[in-house]
Amino acid sequence: MLVLKFGGTSVGSVENIEKVKTIVDDNAPKIVVLSAMSGSTNNLVAIAEAILHNQTEAALKLIAQLKEKNKQTAYHLIQNSSVLQEVVNYINQIDNTLLSFTHNNSIPNFQNTVLAQGELFSTFLVNAYLNEQGIASSIIPALDFMRVDKEGEPDLFYIQQNIKRLLSQQKDTQIFITQGFISLDARGEVTNLQRGGSDYTATIIGAAIKAEEVQIWTDIDGFHNNDPRFVENTYSIPQLSFDEAAELAYFGAKILHPQTVLPVRALDIPVRLKNTMQPEAEGTLISNEISSEGIKAIAAKDGITVIKIKSERMLLAHGFLKRVFEIFEKYQTAIDMVTTSEIAVSLTIDNTQFLDEIVAELEKFSAVTVEDKMSIVCLAGNNIVNHPETSKLFQILNDVSIRMIAYGGSNNNISLLINTQDKPNTLQQLNHYIFKTQVASVAPSV
Ligand code: ADP
Ligand code: ASP
Ligand code: MG
Repeated sequence: MLVLKFGGTSVGSVENIEKVKTIVDDNAPKIVVLSAMSGSTNNLVAIAEAILHNQTEAALKLIAQLKEKNKQTAYHLIQNSSVLQEVVNYINQIDNTLLSFTHNNSIPNFQNTVLAQGELFSTFLVNAYLNEQGIASSIIPALDFMRVDKEGEPDLFYIQQNIKRLLSQQKDTQIFITQGFISLDARGEVTNLQRGGSDYTATIIGAAIKAEEVQIWTDIDGFHNNDPRFVENTYSIPQLSFDEAAELAYFGAKILHPQTVLPVRALDIPVRLKNTMQPEAEGTLISNEISSEGIKAIAAKDGITVIKIKSERMLLAHGFLKRVFEIFEKYQTAIDMVTTSEIAVSLTIDNTQFLDEIVAELEKFSAVTVEDKMSIVCLAGNNIVNHPETSKLFQILNDVSIRMIAYGGSNNNISLLINTQDKPNTLQQLNHYIFKTQVASVAPSV
């Protein structure tokens, strides 16, 4: 069985939903994971915020706009009047749910129920449309099988048992449609897998049913060698290893949710990235195969904070780094990059929830400085540390101020820390030096 995930743009217009239909209608058994229509989750985030802050008028306006947008899509997509009526009823049901929170926002966890409405609607709509077109599909609700544990990790045993039960109840169905992104938590409440989480849903399901392949259908022809939002003339990479893809996704390549590769890597289930608007394009295959050596792609992750810990007395004393790391461990804050000198250690974090507490503890034995608005640029590929071409990247030192470099930590990754405002220029210059394309800005600001 295959798992096919379609992202926001792929289900974001009548024209694209028609393309999705053509792709899924091939008689092969499959689970189809859908995101919310593009823009919907952002709209729902704004609705939840307005309700939370008692901005009832603003919330009502946003809810009415979303209802209108959903209705317009339904009117243009569905011809059959009774099917259309069913969809309109569902839109009204969503509307009532959202409105109910404007009367009472003290319901715990109401925001996650608000956010879930995007995927609940797109799946209802697409399923109704496929049925109207004579394609026998049916919905398996994500909230009937998708669950994360107390640590937020997918509860694979529960997911596997429940998805198998749901599939076996409908032996004649070939196309099962489900919601990406949404899940239950360990207490049985609605939660989600974080923004962009539908990719992760697809690979969790792929692992649970031991799929032959997971396909991520999006709005671009595969994984590009650099971020196309900031750099011109990027190109699609036909093949990536699981490690390369995991590294790039973790370090900010938006095309994949950071955890996408994890559930399928150990099971050796390939992930294929394809373009819904250009299905004939080859796309990218992510698998266990390692195809070539040298730098293959560049990605960048924003929202990084650097902490510099200076202690003339202590650094060379053994036990110093242990003491530092224990503080981060205590506050469950992951460190991405570390560099040391004789008297100082610098490290980066992306989660600043406990920053004040961490700094207070570090200051008991060192001088601490903190800087935010930083980005990590990640260069990934196989065996890049030893590759003769890799040295070209250091020409970048002429163009931007690099704050930290992690080189040699693994053979497959080099990380650079820069100010976020330098990101577009850094990505463009690296593209120039490493991939020999022209430097041309497509996005002047971050
Ligand atoms: P979807 O809604 O289908 O999940 P996303 O917007 O999450 O789509 O991801 C696709 C977008 O990711 C592309 O349109 C592109 O702008 C952006 N992107 C960033 N880095 C890369 C990259 N290295 N390769 C391809 N796309 C990238
Ligand atoms: N709809 C969710 C979001 O916008 C999940 C996804 O698209 O993958 O973040
Ligand atoms: Mg996405």
